[in-house]
Amino acid sequence: MPQINRRRFLRAGLAGATALTPLSAAFGQSGSLSELGTAIVPLPEVKVYTAREIVTLDPAKPSAEAVAVVNGRILLVGSLEDVQGILKGQRHTVDTTFANHVIVPGFLAQHDHPLLAALTMSSEILSIEDWVLPTGTVPAVKDKKDFIDRLSKAVEQRTDPSEPVVSWGYHPAFYGPLTREDLDAISSTQPILVWARSCHEMILNSAALEMGEVTQDVVEGFGATEQAQSKFSEGRFWEQGLFAVLPLIASIAATPERLQSGLELTRDYMHAKGITFGNEPGGILAKPVQDGINAVMSSPDMPFRWSFMPDAKTLVDTYTDDDQVIAETEKLESWYGGMTSLAPKQAKLFADGAIYSLLMQVRDPYLDGHTGEWMMDKSLFDRAFRIYWDAGYQIHVHVNGDAGLDRVLDALEMNLRRNPRYDHRTVLVHFAVSAEEQVQRILELGAIVSGNPYYVTALSDQYSAVGLGPKRADAMVRLGDVSRAGISWSLHSDMPMAPADPLFLMWCAVNRVTASGRVAGPDQRVGAEEALRGVTIEAAYSLKLEDEIGSIEPGKRANFTILDDNPIAVDPMKIRDVKAWGTVMEGRVYPVEKVERKASLMPPVGGGSNIDADFARATLEHALKVVHTHL
Ligand SMILES: [Zn+2]
Ligand SMILES: [Zn+2]
Repeated sequence: MPQINRRRFLRAGLAGATALTPLSAAFGQSGSLSELGTAIVPLPEVKVYTAREIVTLDPAKPSAEAVAVVNGRILLVGSLEDVQGILKGQRHTVDTTFANHVIVPGFLAQHDHPLLAALTMSSEILSIEDWVLPTGTVPAVKDKKDFIDRLSKAVEQRTDPSEPVVSWGYHPAFYGPLTREDLDAISSTQPILVWARSCHEMILNSAALEMGEVTQDVVEGFGATEQAQSKFSEGRFWEQGLFAVLPLIASIAATPERLQSGLELTRDYMHAKGITFGNEPGGILAKPVQDGINAVMSSPDMPFRWSFMPDAKTLVDTYTDDDQVIAETEKLESWYGGMTSLAPKQAKLFADGAIYSLLMQVRDPYLDGHTGEWMMDKSLFDRAFRIYWDAGYQIHVHVNGDAGLDRVLDALEMNLRRNPRYDHRTVLVHFAVSAEEQVQRILELGAIVSGNPYYVTALSDQYSAVGLGPKRADAMVRLGDVSRAGISWSLHSDMPMAPADPLFLMWCAVNRVTASGRVAGPDQRVGAEEALRGVTIEAAYSLKLEDEIGSIEPGKRANFTILDDNPIAVDPMKIRDVKAWGTVMEGRVYPVEKVERKASLMPPVGGGSNIDADFARATLEHALKVVHTHL
């Protein structure tokens, strides 16, 4: 819907003026421009939205029935009578589209990975869980036979016999081993590539190996570790073996077409979940790949803005000169535009290993005695922390274990003593395992938390028996303690580690119900209103955007999520069933529309030029880097 755009109108006015007077004269007359503006630009029209209820998260006025919006920002909030009373004779319209709905502040995706999500979502999803996508629900795979049947059907649908079929979601621990032989039985001509649910392993059929020119000889040329983590006869490549084979098969798995199609599906998915702003922590460091992402995500049609946070680990690793680290970080700003941006003066660091592979650093040993991993050596971590701290950056740290947390808090304390900073807002990201007494230290040091509550839902049962034991497994993501201590906390999904669905995250944090149906760590549950704050205003706070978005208050951007029910008033177990009607983003209305196009059915890959191969390799490399730190 075209709106009167003040800037465009002014530009049009200016063009008219220059037709009459020389440009220099128009600019030379100070004041003439603003006079011109007020003289000929009509006041932009105010739109007043009414709703069954508006949950503002503004403590001064928590509930309202009308919100007035002008030029993409919130003008007034209150009862319809009050709002119209203030507007009096001013031109405005009352829009009752949401009269039967509940308006909440626009949801934020504090931490998601759109590129990896795009690659997995644009595959034939055949996974351990249901995926509710804009194109319909993909039900979970029942067993290996179900997987083979459904993959066979997907292969049959292809009309071009050389078009590769990529599937994501197979889990050997659930369905048993899968080999090249199984896939050859589906097709000996159509290249098939199966990416495991963990993303750590790929299985290829003979046609796919041939397409990538992967032979026994090639694999024997790999290094020792890479060879140990490859099995050519079974078409299987995992960990270092996967990194080694990646340059050969990247063009099958990560073409620009697949990336674009997957990003479009990811965009529609996130919008359907009510997201109005998102952030990728650990931005892409290959410009052509970012350009490919921008082709979708910078477009003015995007229903949400997205910020990318510099991957400080890689930057510090690459540049030995401290000043250059910051200079190179700042250069990244020019890579973005339109609806994408660089998260200003924010950087991402990594402490310890991933929770899904039980590689976090814990104080007490794992049940089987194995040890965790550090994602960065201590000297590199300390150097990175110091460089970004001294440059005034807000530091976000991926941290999963209690020993990992000790390292982060030690570094924070040391830097606070050395170079005190006010309102540094250091973010502890993921926050899986922590000790109770660490909460007080977090408070005293002024750090804040971004927790992933899906860990409890997905892993507390399993980790009670394996790895952590019941006490630590049930206290994972201890948001109850964090909340009682008065520390700011938000929620994130880490898509595709968990569905990018803020209402589902709220449900996880409020209920802490596991796969077996029990409640893990009842005292770590949080209230529904707090959880709503965790996907709105506190998420905005963690990105230093709380003055702009996150609540419904005059002056802020008009970002709303429109729901069919009030998530802080429904039965807590029903929070995840609340539906999003759509969103309002900076005053523009975006209803959720049924998407018919299926991303996995895309035009065949064309060309296979060198540029495409480089692009594909860089794309997949970024994806696997994310995988390595998370799963
Ligand atoms: Zn992480
Ligand atoms: Zn992540």
